[in-house]
Amino acid sequence: MSIFSSPAFDDHEEVHFFDDPATGLRAIIAIHDTTLGPAAGGCRMKTYDSEDDAVTDALRLSRGMTYKAVMANLPYGGGKSVIIGDPHSEKTEALFRAFGRAVESLGGRYHTGEDMGVTMQDMDWAAQESAYVHGTTASEAQDPSPDTAVGVLAGIIAAVKHKLGRHDLKGLGVAVQGLGNVGYHLCRLLAAEGARLSVADVDADLVARCAAEFEAVAVPSDEIYAVDAEVFAPCAVGAILNDQTIGLLECDIVAGSANNQLLEERHGQALSQAGILYAPDYVINAGGFISVADEMVAGRRDEQRVLRRLHGIGDLLGEIFSRAASEGRATSEIADAIAGEKLAAKKAG
Ligand code: NAD
Repeated sequence: MSIFSSPAFDDHEEVHFFDDPATGLRAIIAIHDTTLGPAAGGCRMKTYDSEDDAVTDALRLSRGMTYKAVMANLPYGGGKSVIIGDPHSEKTEALFRAFGRAVESLGGRYHTGEDMGVTMQDMDWAAQESAYVHGTTASEAQDPSPDTAVGVLAGIIAAVKHKLGRHDLKGLGVAVQGLGNVGYHLCRLLAAEGARLSVADVDADLVARCAAEFEAVAVPSDEIYAVDAEVFAPCAVGAILNDQTIGLLECDIVAGSANNQLLEERHGQALSQAGILYAPDYVINAGGFISVADEMVAGRRDEQRVLRRLHGIGDLLGEIFSRAASEGRATSEIADAIAGEKLAAKKAG
């Protein structure tokens, strides 16, 4: 893989590779941009089809964190780390302590916490080696997923208002893909708003739980795209909006928590051309970051301030939707343009 010419590289400031045979750690830490402050972004543990895939994942996620921070007005830059390995069978204290030492070696230019495949207990091990590890069992914010779900709900409400002229979700259909940490909490919130849920996950137990608790209709994983519902909420993995799936969609709105939902930038335009309103991922899924950053910035978490900022996600999306409509451009383009403008203004001074 040629890293510098990869589209995912996109002017990264630093990319670090860590290989520690003694503990089995193989990790990548990508730091995209530190204009707004030290880079912040979770640590993901995953088996990848190839090392190139792991690098691309780290780069795309890291860039997304820069955009997420600038759009949410947080004093952080964008970074991300991936540990290559099976989170079910390859976790050890020694491995996460080695990861902590890797984070520490960057001297505070990168702050981390948990992401997919990584738990707060894992971060406790890493935090023994580094002051720049957050999201441990001792943190006030604990699991950021419920706050991410609150932000996604605010985004769905804003999208429904813009696209359908409705002020509530009563009776509206929402198809949720992925019922893990965020997806489950989102289903709980949507059910409380009176939405009709269709749900899919590759884990049958999670599907059964949502079906039982929220009267959700269980849908096979590969059929969730084609569910006839007002909203499709992707809350599983990235790159799920692509040439194969966009033509299947029967929804008016795509709004969910997954990172990097568009396989390529052009898929944002494809959604727009199909008449589907897309809530840009790094805007709608910033709730967890907002929640964790509140404690990191202020030293103490303020519940009311966090809640206000989570609801602000809906207001910001409303502005993006309106600007996209008036300029006849895709919402993903508008979000990238606003993030780029804000970053350039900060860089300029
Ligand atoms: P998670 O691992 O808890 O849940 C993901 C779920 O998706 C799992 O239950 C998994 O079985 C399911 N899944 C995987 N592939 C699937 C497929 N093809 N079809 C259906 N289901 C599938 O992760 P999470 O913390 O809930 O995060 C979900 C998404 O939101 C991820 O993309 C994550 O990067 C993003 N995100 C999460 C947070 C957060 O606060 N947790 C914040 C921002 C963004």
